[in-house]
Amino acid sequence: MSVIDAIGDTPLIRLTRVTEGIAAEVLLKAEFLNPGGSVKDRAALAMVSAAEESGELRPGGVIVEGTSGNTGIGLAMIAAQRGYRAIVVVPDKSSTEKIKTLRAYGAEVVITAGGVTREDPRHVSRVAARLAEETPGGWLAGQYDNPANPGAHLATTGPEIWRQTGGRVTHFVAGVGTGGTISGAGAYLRETGAVTVVGADPESSVYGGGDGSPYYVESIGHYVHPDTVEDVWPQSYHPKVVDRIERVGDRESIAMTRRLAREEGILAGASTGTAVVAALRVARELGPSGVVVVLAPDSGRAYLSKYFDDDWLRRAGFPAPPVPGPLTGDGP
Ligand code: PMP
Repeated sequence: MSVIDAIGDTPLIRLTRVTEGIAAEVLLKAEFLNPGGSVKDRAALAMVSAAEESGELRPGGVIVEGTSGNTGIGLAMIAAQRGYRAIVVVPDKSSTEKIKTLRAYGAEVVITAGGVTREDPRHVSRVAARLAEETPGGWLAGQYDNPANPGAHLATTGPEIWRQTGGRVTHFVAGVGTGGTISGAGAYLRETGAVTVVGADPESSVYGGGDGSPYYVESIGHYVHPDTVEDVWPQSYHPKVVDRIERVGDRESIAMTRRLAREEGILAGASTGTAVVAALRVARELGPSGVVVVLAPDSGRAYLSKYFDDDWLRRAGFPAPPVPGPLTGDGP
């Protein structure tokens, strides 16, 4: 087996403590157990494989993407295993851990200005597009509008959840970043078993009708840069697949992230906290036949100096209601 064969088939872990007083079953899809550490290994693999098949990515080619998040790490891992060069463009606010992780896999990291509008030529996605164009053999992964991103979850995550629950799953809950996970897995589960699909979204994110102001939980939701005139939703997000959106504040998300570590022994990132808060709201409405599957995108290891650090929390204004502050700029 290669490291790439180890992507997917992640376990479902039953939550037992944070679910006190809830009759329904709540099962956590442990995507942090993928070899690159997150759910994005699946999308990265599907995008690379599709580009190899179409001939857009050829042997000796260069994988290019603009993100400091988990997608870059998944692409860098696959590039290393399959013998491609990888160039990952990240905003200058990215944590050193993330930049070092990318470099550890052999990716070339290009640092550009964060907090600029999409129209600015220094914007991460504009720089990535330009480098893909200029580099011989360059191919831009483009997770926000690459159909292989939701396609990965239609083909793997959705069927795994169906199989692992023996078709008993009644609700599926996931955060929305590019929308790939919820659109792909959600579509499969809805079509196969009339499963209710619930999006978990930061309170001020525009997906759930928020005002687009900044928030702290990384990699999910969508906020609007004050200078952006027109905002575009990613093509990887298919809102028709989503039956309901639960809006969750930073404070509640971070508190749940910390409870998961202390009470369930599950060290996950803050987007997992957001999704679990939403899942528990849904589960509370259900009887004992309810089976809620909630997706945990990544591990808490990447956030030890943030959500798990009391000094960081105090500086950020927690546990008092959060104040708008600098964002990390980390993308999906
Ligand atoms: N949480 C984390 C930590 C992520 O890295 C991502 C990917 N951006 C998501 C949630 C959302 O996943 P998706 O892009 O498939 O919507």
